Amino acid sequence: MRFEISKVLDAIEGRVCTDPSLARAVVDLAEVIRWQDLDGGRPASLLRLGLVIDALARQLEEDSVPVYAIVHRALLSDADLTSNERMVVRRWADDGLVEVLDNPGDRMLEVADLLGLPVLSRVRFDGLGGRFPWLGQPGRVLAPVPGAGGPVFIAHVGGGQSPATGTRSPAGAKLLTRQWRCPEPGCALFGGGGGGGAFADLARVDRAPAGQPPPTLRGGVPTCPRHGARLGDAGPRPRTEVLAVRIGGLVRRRFVLTETQPVLVGRAPDQSEGITLGQWLNDESRRWISRNHVRFELRVGEVIVTDTSTNGSGIRPKGSMAEPDRLPLAPQQSRVLGEGDIVELYPGVQIGRAEELPTGAPFTPTSVMAEAPTMTMRLPRP
Ligand SMILES: [Zn+2]
Repeated sequence: MRFEISKVLDAIEGRVCTDPSLARAVVDLAEVIRWQDLDGGRPASLLRLGLVIDALARQLEEDSVPVYAIVHRALLSDADLTSNERMVVRRWADDGLVEVLDNPGDRMLEVADLLGLPVLSRVRFDGLGGRFPWLGQPGRVLAPVPGAGGPVFIAHVGGGQSPATGTRSPAGAKLLTRQWRCPEPGCALFGGGGGGGAFADLARVDRAPAGQPPPTLRGGVPTCPRHGARLGDAGPRPRTEVLAVRIGGLVRRRFVLTETQPVLVGRAPDQSEGITLGQWLNDESRRWISRNHVRFELRVGEVIVTDTSTNGSGIRPKGSMAEPDRLPLAPQQSRVLGEGDIVELYPGVQIGRAEELPTGAPFTPTSVMAEAPTMTMRLPRP
């Protein structure tokens, strides 16, 4: 059972990130773990984050939806969590997947403001509407509450039922044009890598500058939320493009393309950062799609797709699903992805710019809780 729980926590780990291009909602982890009514279990449980992430995926009708979690430092020593759960949160903190702060204050709302993200919380945020006017907009603050088959969202403020994304605030848009450096050695959020920490012995991927979280603003000065140190400007942030994989009408995951690193997509790409589709394919598409099927590159702001497969791909110009419009992309052929264009690896297996690829299909998103032992997760029955 312990092994199964750690598998669930691993699955949840894949859905926490502080990357402004990928995070879809902001949560206060200390709040989430204590929503005992979600499962009727222990006073605090990290698995509740998985329930909330699943609820978000159901609402957005999209798989692999990450959340931006902010955590009070006290959580690392919260005796209501198991030692394994505390260790996992510490690892997430060391890897910069979550923000662990001495004094989170209004950081959750600040991140939501800078990035234009919805907030999943039961707090009403009374008196903060002046500073954050979007608090009154539908879908910007939603409270996960118990429902049939898992948590559902209700609004305590602003109305709405479905999480709504707004625009980045002008300050957020400006902060995200630059990359930042924290003077604290080994800072997981704005670091140059290296440094100590309990998990320094584990291989740690240096954070790509393009995926840096938004700094906090103290008196208008970009500051590290973790160390309270003034951040140095380390030059322009690399350009990025967010692409999405849609299979059978449902967006299965998004990924970030940068100018420094091409990304391979296929059944089981050789590249460690590659996008593996195998788990979502049926027998026919698995036979057709190569291990390394297409390669995406970002060059001077243009997305270039190159077929690297045995069987070839197709382009659906401006997303047209009419068969005569489909253009073949032969093996080894390259093409600039025009506005609205979708690459099709096999009928129904498509990749395009995330904002141009609508999702929603009669499929249930994959649960991060799939491995959860039933004895720890007593979900209310419909
Ligand atoms: Zn720092």
